[in-house]
Amino acid sequence: TVALKDVTKVFPDGTIAVDNVSLDVGDGEFMVLLGPSGCGKSTVLRMVAGLEDPSSGAVVLNGELANDLAPRDRKIAMVFQDFALYPHMTVGDNIGFPLRLSGVDPEPRSERVADVASALGIGDVLARRPSQLSGGQRQRVAMGRAIVRRPGLFLMDEPLSNLDSGLRAELRAEISGLTRELGVTTLYVTHDQAEALTMADRVAIMRRGVLQDVGTPTQVYGRPATLYVAAFLGAPR
Ligand code: ATP
Ligand code: MG
Repeated sequence: TVALKDVTKVFPDGTIAVDNVSLDVGDGEFMVLLGPSGCGKSTVLRMVAGLEDPSSGAVVLNGELANDLAPRDRKIAMVFQDFALYPHMTVGDNIGFPLRLSGVDPEPRSERVADVASALGIGDVLARRPSQLSGGQRQRVAMGRAIVRRPGLFLMDEPLSNLDSGLRAELRAEISGLTRELGVTTLYVTHDQAEALTMADRVAIMRRGVLQDVGTPTQVYGRPATLYVAAFLGAPR
C-alpha cells in the first residue's frame, strides 16, 4: 500500500509542484494519477519512489514511514516514458538484469525471464537486441525488466506516450491485465483521460499541484467533485 499524508513539494525556485496531497493506494489496486501537463504528477511519483524528498508531509509504504528510506530499499519498480533499455544487451539479459544484480543464479534467472517474457508476449525475441524490436516490444521489455523481481509497488510515468494510438490501446489492456494478474499495487501517471478511465480501479485527478477528486472511473466521470474535473473529463455538468 501507499499513503501520502499532506505531502507538499516546493522546489528551490519557489515552484509549488505538489500542494498538500493526501492519497491512499490499496493493496493490489491500480490507481491512475491524471491531470494536465505540469500539474505535479511526476513529482508525486518521484516522491513515492524516493527520487525526490517531500518538503513536508509523509510518504508511507506498507504502513511504514518511508521518508528517509533510500529508493533501492522501497521494493518498487518504475517504468518511464523513454524506457531506457541497455542497447548492448539482449532482450533476455535486459529483463534478467535486476536479478543478476541481486545475485540470482543463471538457471532460475533464465526460467524467471522466460516466464515474464511469455506473459508479455515477447518470449520469441529474447535473443535479439533492443534495436531489433518494435516500439511496443521495447515497452514490453521495459515492463518485463521492471516486474521481474516481483516488486511490491509498480510506478509508471506515462509509459505509453511515445507509442501510436493502436499500440497504446493494446498495451493499456496488457498492462492492466498483467498487474492485476500479479496482484501488484500500481500507481500509473497519465494526462490521457481515456487511458485513465479505461485502466484505473480508481482515478486521482490533479490540477496545479492540488488533488481535485479521487474515485472509481464511474464516480469521477458521473459525479465529478469540481467543475474543473467535470470539464477535464468532458462529463456532463
Ligand atoms: P507532465 O505531464 O508534463 O509530465 P507533470 O504533471 O508530471 O507534467 P511535474 O513534472 O510533476 O508535472 O511538474 C510539476 C511542476 O513542478 C511544474 O510546474 C514543473 O515546472 C515544476 N518542476 C518540476 N521539477 C522541477 C524542478 N526540479 N525545479 C523547479 N520546478 C520543477
Ligand atoms: Mg510528468
